[in-house]
Amino acid sequence: MANCSNNRPCPCTYRCPRHGKCCECVAHHRDNDEGVPGCFFSPEAEATYDRSIEALCRDRGILL
Ligand code: SF4
Repeated sequence: MANCSNNRPCPCTYRCPRHGKCCECVAHHRDNDEGVPGCFFSPEAEATYDRSIEALCRDRGILL
C-alpha cells in the first residue's frame, strides 16, 4: 500500500492524515469498522460525519 498511486482530490472535511490516499482511506474504514468513506456522500451528508450504510442510503435515495 505504501507504493499505491491511487490518489485523488478528497472531498472529506474530517481532519485526517489519509486525505487523497484512496487505498489507505478505504482500508482504514474497512479495518476499523468505520462505515463508508466520506467521498461517497453528497457534501451535505458528508458534513454530518455519519458514515453508516443507512446514512449513505438515505443520502443517495437507496431503499434498504
Ligand atoms: S473518509 Fe475517513 S479515512 Fe478517508 S479522508 Fe475522510 S476521515 Fe480520512
